[in-house]
Amino acid sequence: MPRENRSPVLVPVLGDQLTRDLASIWGRTKDDTVILMMEVWDEATYVRHHKQKIALIFSAMRHFAAELRDAGWQVDYVRLTDPDNAHSFTGEVARAAERHEPRAIRVVEAGEWRVQQAIEEWPDKFDCPVEILTDDRFISSIGEFREWAEDRKTLRMEHFYREMRRKTGLLMEPDGKPVGGEWNYDQQNRKPPKGEMDAPERPLFEPDAITNEVIALVEEKFGDHFGSLDNFGWPVTREEAELAADAFFEERLGKFGDYQDAMVHGEDDLWHSMLSTSINLGLLDPLELCQRAEAAFKDGKAPLNSVEGFIRQLIGWREYVRGFYWHFMPGLQTDNALDAHRPLPEFYWTGETEMRCMADCVRSTRDNAHAHHIQRLMVLGNFALLAGLDPQQVQDWYLVVYADAYEWVELPNVAAMILYADGGKLASKPYAASGNYINKMSDYCKECTYSPSIKTCEGACPFNPLYWHFMHRHRDRLESNPRIGRIYSTWDRMGEQKQAEYLDSAQEVLDTLEPAGKGWARGQ
Ligand SMILES: Cc1cc2nc3c(=O)[nH]c(=O)nc-3n(C[C@H](O)[C@H](O)[C@H](O)COP(=O)(O)OP(=O)(O)OC[C@H]3O[C@@H](n4cnc5c(N)ncnc54)[C@H](O)[C@@H]3O)c2cc1C
Ligand code: SF4
Repeated sequence: MPRENRSPVLVPVLGDQLTRDLASIWGRTKDDTVILMMEVWDEATYVRHHKQKIALIFSAMRHFAAELRDAGWQVDYVRLTDPDNAHSFTGEVARAAERHEPRAIRVVEAGEWRVQQAIEEWPDKFDCPVEILTDDRFISSIGEFREWAEDRKTLRMEHFYREMRRKTGLLMEPDGKPVGGEWNYDQQNRKPPKGEMDAPERPLFEPDAITNEVIALVEEKFGDHFGSLDNFGWPVTREEAELAADAFFEERLGKFGDYQDAMVHGEDDLWHSMLSTSINLGLLDPLELCQRAEAAFKDGKAPLNSVEGFIRQLIGWREYVRGFYWHFMPGLQTDNALDAHRPLPEFYWTGETEMRCMADCVRSTRDNAHAHHIQRLMVLGNFALLAGLDPQQVQDWYLVVYADAYEWVELPNVAAMILYADGGKLASKPYAASGNYINKMSDYCKECTYSPSIKTCEGACPFNPLYWHFMHRHRDRLESNPRIGRIYSTWDRMGEQKQAEYLDSAQEVLDTLEPAGKGWARGQ
């Protein structure tokens, strides 16, 4: 029987869809719509997320529900502690369908493959029409990326990025050329840290009553998860996120480019925007941010290398990894092209290691549920690659520990960018580096137990022998790679004794790695 016209349309809004511009809300009238928001156990527990990540998402959801109600929307909000909580999105939508008898369900596609699989079963499960809408918060739809990727031999981000520049018109001249004459100013964005780094502090937002209630809930239910809640100061509303963006544009965008790859002990944010949590939740619109950055350049308030770098991260990398994820799922989850099986070491959780760079990155991760890009890539990720850590354990770690981590963005960065587990579909070569790189781009090595200039044996920076061990064990695959293959002539010139020293030193490092105890990422 068709439902009466008086019954409402049910609009489930997922935890990372927190905007009134969402395609499923847009154009609806308040008196015949019920917005359903759900805190469900399956999502909160499928990995043992960092405590700040759970607190952030639930607090932002509760604030968004309040904002909608204040604006006159009818919101049905299911709390985690609801005794009848159905544990899954599908279970909650089924319960809501009983309560409201909707004439239709209208939902925006999920960010994560796992959730989307569940949503695609809804049309068969519920006895009303289910409309699944494209998430138009992204500039490129999943279909557009597919079209772009099909028939291409290589899927380099740079080519995709140029398409996105043309599509958005960002930093484009009227004649179709890029502003400044170049598409990419990355070469100018690699200044090492020198002297006093006087990066302004980002605003931290004092938890209000809603956030404090959520923090108490997280301590009670997830108290043994990784991470600390002490520093919680993430924006949890659109208003706060906009204040955080204002502070970035006014105080940090100028030097964002120059020091994008720099790392300084104890300086966790530097000139990074720290906006990923807000963007991924839906509190900020990435296109609007890019337009603001472009305006800052046009007004002479920020240099081109910073502005282009920021825009490239958003309409280039962010859009690209999202398209890449959907193009290669579900296989991306289990790819292991380098046949890596070493368990994740315990120090990824405890930070207890003499490697000063690793210890600092884990500390920032634990305290802030954040580490900046180059720490994720060239310290934590580089070690995982060189040591041959198991991709699924590394993926779990990154998904658990960062407040901005959703599988669509985490997985391509981990499996493809840092681990080369996809066999090179994303990156033209593995991002492998010795201690020299970290020494050049950070101040970590100055006070480390190890020395980046010692290559093997006593006192050697572990990244040095591990680098050659990695190159040696993957020679068959990498020697013919034009971007990295030449390194083997250096290796061959070393002679057998030096080579043996490198390999023995690396083996010593690998033998000392204590595997993580069970239960940090999954299970009890
Ligand atoms: C191994 C690894 C795992 C990562 N996991 C995540 C993750 O789970 N979630 C996440 O949002 N980002 C992830 N990133 C990308 C990047 O590290 C973070 O987006 C960034 O550190 C967030 O801090 P920020 O907002 O200060 O970024 P900024 O340095 O200020 O950059 C601006 C914005 O660009 C976007 N961006 C930059 N680089 C990337 C990228 N490689 N992929 C996608 N978006 C990008 C982000 O939205 C970011 O907010 C990962 C990178 C690596 C190497
Ligand atoms: S010497 Fe090596 S281990 Fe120590 S901080 Fe430098 S790169 Fe890291």
